[in-house]
Amino acid sequence: MTDTTEPYFDPEWGYATLGIRAAEPRTENMEHSASVSLTSSHVYRSAAEAAAVFSGQQPGYIYARFSNPTVEAFERRLAAMEGGEACIATASGMVAIQTLCLALLKAGDHILASRGLFGASINLFNNILSRFGLETTYVDPTDPAAWKAAVRPNTKLFFVETPSNPLMELADIRALADIAHAHGALLAVDNCFLTPVLSQPLKLGADFVIHSGTKYIDGQGRCIGGAIVGDAQRVGKDIYSYMRTAGPCLSPFNAWVFLKGLETLALRVRAHSDSALKLAQWLKAQPRVKRVFYPGLPEHPQHELARRQLASPGRGASAAVGFGGIVSFEVEGGREAAWKLVDSTRMLSITANLGDTRSTITHPATTTHARVTPEAREQAGITESLLRISVGLEDIEDIIRDLERGLA
Ligand SMILES: *Cc1c(COP(=O)(O)O)cnc(C)c1O
Repeated sequence: MTDTTEPYFDPEWGYATLGIRAAEPRTENMEHSASVSLTSSHVYRSAAEAAAVFSGQQPGYIYARFSNPTVEAFERRLAAMEGGEACIATASGMVAIQTLCLALLKAGDHILASRGLFGASINLFNNILSRFGLETTYVDPTDPAAWKAAVRPNTKLFFVETPSNPLMELADIRALADIAHAHGALLAVDNCFLTPVLSQPLKLGADFVIHSGTKYIDGQGRCIGGAIVGDAQRVGKDIYSYMRTAGPCLSPFNAWVFLKGLETLALRVRAHSDSALKLAQWLKAQPRVKRVFYPGLPEHPQHELARRQLASPGRGASAAVGFGGIVSFEVEGGREAAWKLVDSTRMLSITANLGDTRSTITHPATTTHARVTPEAREQAGITESLLRISVGLEDIEDIIRDLERGLA
């Protein structure tokens, strides 16, 4: 991009404005809304220009495995929202986690991860990265002292998902960052459930933020993708070099969908959060519901931490506190009753996807966490009576009516 086409940017902008205005990829055609740059490579006016761009002496695009205008715009806009210096977009959220580990760790290193991770993340650590000499052990996300006790001399990475999936337990990001740094380890936070609208882990001391763009960033259940956000050296140089060579890159088309998604992220995440709180309050009052897991409820064990941590320190209306769009709950009657409730819905989508405009309902023990061993599931508190709802943007009254039938 040239100076004449670069749109105005103000680092003081609030999250809604950043999502709409930061890093608009404007070409000499002066598009108002970002166009998608679907080209695998770029050309040069001369051999000298090609050499200058390849060596980095002159800015310019080379090859879409590691440089594409639309992907770069998505990376810059997400970095601005997370308060990071650099961002690398990846083919999926899982690839973001895999890339982080393969780019920065080596055989013999140890990872400390929070219990209650996304199911595929557990499989990645236990069944794939373990084959390359990376060992992972799991710790209660709510107990910083347990992390301190579990650190080994070779611990290089803390990997935390907060809130946890599907039990919505919170980790104290600042406390874990301090413990990691005191032992020479780095902290990565999977910020998929909250998005930068509700949580900015880098500002609380985390070194990396991981995203699955597939969820709230897209927001309409269309594209798979992910991202790593962090500092200029580790993400901007080290992970970028890995991307350039190993190529786990995001498609420009998906980057364009995500760029559009970021424009409405602040608005959507607040609406998802408002409805989720209403649903959690309604579920709590149902006699056949044993327990509701939602950080916005005052009885949630970490409600106070949630109030402190889940507020944008930023400006503007988007700085409001919200508790995210995911609500989990246990019903009386084990798997049979849980499945019956799922099967009695007519509008809610029976799918494990989340962060969509459409509300979804899933039985974690037999879907997202089915490949996890029963012992590990038990330990993580994922019982047979547990259900998880990703609260969509339909009218909350309709979501409640759809669940009422099965709880009658
Ligand atoms: C979905 C998800 C992922 C993985 O992202 P994909 O884009 O599906 O690969 C990682 N972490 C969390 C918390 C998720 O919900």
